Amino acid sequence: MKIMVAVKRVVDYAVKIRVRPDKSGVETQNVKMSMNPFCEIALEEALKIKESGLAKEVVAVSMGPSNCVDTLRTGLAMGADRAILVEASRDLVPLTVAKLLKKLVEVENPGLLILGKQAIDDDCNQTGQMIAGLLGWPQGTFASKVVLDKEKQAVSVDREVDGGLETLCLGLPVVITTDLRLNQPRYATLPNIMKAKSKPIKKYTPEELNVEIKSDLEVVQVTEPPKRNAGVILSSVDELIDKLNNEAHVI
Ligand code: AMP
Repeated sequence: MKIMVAVKRVVDYAVKIRVRPDKSGVETQNVKMSMNPFCEIALEEALKIKESGLAKEVVAVSMGPSNCVDTLRTGLAMGADRAILVEASRDLVPLTVAKLLKKLVEVENPGLLILGKQAIDDDCNQTGQMIAGLLGWPQGTFASKVVLDKEKQAVSVDREVDGGLETLCLGLPVVITTDLRLNQPRYATLPNIMKAKSKPIKKYTPEELNVEIKSDLEVVQVTEPPKRNAGVILSSVDELIDKLNNEAHVI
């Protein structure tokens, strides 16, 4: 069985986000970019499944500008066997990513498609659900445990829901999106980084996959959240009640 993993290039989680002066979006020039943390978890899970002998190949895929190749190389250094880049110069919304992924799934025919539960740039949390809908595949979203049963051709997924944990049993092929607690992604070692340089990355354009890049969304303006005033430490409950009453006017 083949596993396909979608990995997105995003602003590194440790970078302090700055809004562009023209308020058209977030500054990405000269900013450290990395693989989306939830996608690292997705890739780690695919690699673990392969290492346990239940899958033969892990293919990492990314969609976006040509420098997504760096993210794919990181994925290859972590252990993916090969990678696919769909090169697009415009920003891609989740529905477009899902349509492109669907075309790649039709070419590659994986038994498992694993994505992050959300990308930390737009925080959309939509692509996994959309691709499952487009493919008509079952979905196990926000997975905190994944157990594959090759004989039954099924996967059991524990997912975190409001009331606790829910366990789903889903027939392959299936879409899974990963939550934070699923695993601890590995670091790429130097020898593996060197090896990754010779692993293949196949490139497509959206036109070759017959997907039109369009969006029904328009970003009107991006602004920073208003600055918060510093907190104060009060000396007594009476003082707190007085402030809530006379300053905040909430009681
Ligand atoms: P989102 O729905 O945008 O929050 O993204 C959820 C997941 O979809 C990400 O963690 C990735 O696995 C996948 N994804 C979204 N956009 C891309 C992209 N441009 N390239 C590859 N994977 C993507």
